[in-house]
Amino acid sequence: MDVKENAGPEIPRKSGTPKPPLGPQKDPNRELAEQFKLPIYMELAHLKLPKEYYKKVPYSFAKKHVVLPIQEENGVILVAIADPLNLEPLEELRLMLDVDVKPVYSPKDVILASINEFYNQEFGAASQLIANLADQSEDGRGEGEVEVYDLLDDSQAQAPIVKLLNLILTEAIQQGASDIHFEPLEDGLRVRYRIDGILQNRHSPAQEFQAQLLTRVKVMAKLDIAEHRLPQDGRIKLRMGRREIDFRVSTVPVGSGERIVLRILDKGNVILGLDKIGMLPVVLEEFKRLIALPEGIVLVTGPTGSGKTTTLYSAIFEMYSEETNIMTIEDPVEYNLKGIAQIGVRHKIKLDFATGLRHILRQDPDVIMIGEIRDVETAEIAIQASLTGHLVLSTLHTNDAPSSITRLVDMGIEPYLLSSTVVGICAQRLVRKICPSCKTAYKPTERELSNLGLNREDLVDGNFFIGEGCSACYGSGYRGRHGLYELMPVTNAIKKQIVKSADSVELRNIALETGMISLLSHGAELVKQGVTTSAEVLRVARALED
Ligand SMILES: [Zn+2]
Repeated sequence: MDVKENAGPEIPRKSGTPKPPLGPQKDPNRELAEQFKLPIYMELAHLKLPKEYYKKVPYSFAKKHVVLPIQEENGVILVAIADPLNLEPLEELRLMLDVDVKPVYSPKDVILASINEFYNQEFGAASQLIANLADQSEDGRGEGEVEVYDLLDDSQAQAPIVKLLNLILTEAIQQGASDIHFEPLEDGLRVRYRIDGILQNRHSPAQEFQAQLLTRVKVMAKLDIAEHRLPQDGRIKLRMGRREIDFRVSTVPVGSGERIVLRILDKGNVILGLDKIGMLPVVLEEFKRLIALPEGIVLVTGPTGSGKTTTLYSAIFEMYSEETNIMTIEDPVEYNLKGIAQIGVRHKIKLDFATGLRHILRQDPDVIMIGEIRDVETAEIAIQASLTGHLVLSTLHTNDAPSSITRLVDMGIEPYLLSSTVVGICAQRLVRKICPSCKTAYKPTERELSNLGLNREDLVDGNFFIGEGCSACYGSGYRGRHGLYELMPVTNAIKKQIVKSADSVELRNIALETGMISLLSHGAELVKQGVTTSAEVLRVARALED
């Protein structure tokens, strides 16, 4: 199974034989290059020149002439070219860079892909363009070359607003954002990115661009641009370099205009695999045991954005084999998993979780994943499915593992049905990881230690760690995220308690007595290892312990 649907164009590998392959793959330019004895670079994976050089070469120039300076060699800069007969751009490059240049041959698509990838990394381009736009509107002339990314199929359009939106999208992806918010305010537009779960302010384009930007997003998402009073949903598919990225678009009218949120579904960014999501080894082992059972219900619980879907997908990834029929019903299908039958909920045609599940059950499944149990009907079918010999995976929206039982009982499910079907519940959260570029040690106070149940002797040199904030993490001190997991297997003791009373405090106490590692304890372990900060762990896990 592979989540990457589009690996991008094949890059021909350099073969040992000097003779190029004949037939349709014959590349006349490469033959020329060989005749001229130009070095041949079939890949341009690492560009080794300092950034200053690229600042002197406008993106549009590199793109138009298919040339890219790649590295320095004995005071001469090597430039990848695709057409050995066209040496004119080299002369221009010599002037731009003010240093001697030497051509090397690279296939056209390799150079173009590298140009895209390299210039994409130039963050801050959106701010630059916003500044340039402001200049233009003030005194009617623009200064400086603005870089454009062919993020879109129709990016040949030269409208500044198209460029600006492309830049914002590119920048957000580059910075690892999960969502982009366009919010109309009294005096203009506010553009914020959600990075590692936290919203961060990025741009404030002037008011006159607001309507144009919003219209552009609507056009791309194929929404009704004349509709300003009703919420709309759509989707945008983009290509960036070799990656394909999906955006889910949602517009909602608010007092001062329309709010637009783009959720970025970057297939290249999903890390799937239970070994990679950060469970403690004992927890991982237990979780694997649960999903290997032939029947039963495994629940993953936590607030929105706590990584539940990634955990379920990783579980499915683990279980996938040709001998198993795995089917899912999701709202919506976020990533396409190859070899898995995924059904998306569609309210318009009355295909909801319950209806979809009934259809799935007629399709002879072994494993069923339900995106979320939201109502008693879905819960009942899940229990039915489990009782008839299926393994069911699903999520619930509760704070901790034991309160999932309480929630289902509150929905109207009989406790004895839960005790005989639910085999395990995993609660989870995501904490931000300390930025490695600005990580520093400090001595925690007694209170900080006791909040996490740690002793000073447990720590390496008695230290906690924190990120001071640097350019690599945009001043936040954090980069990337790590999961916290609290796994409650439904043991005999827990079963007895469920049937007796589903009181979540009592369930929790029994679970902790029988060895459940709480979210807070897992968090404390990560603080000890210097992966995250104590503040971050308390932010996501403390409420449970009080
Ligand atoms: Zn940093």
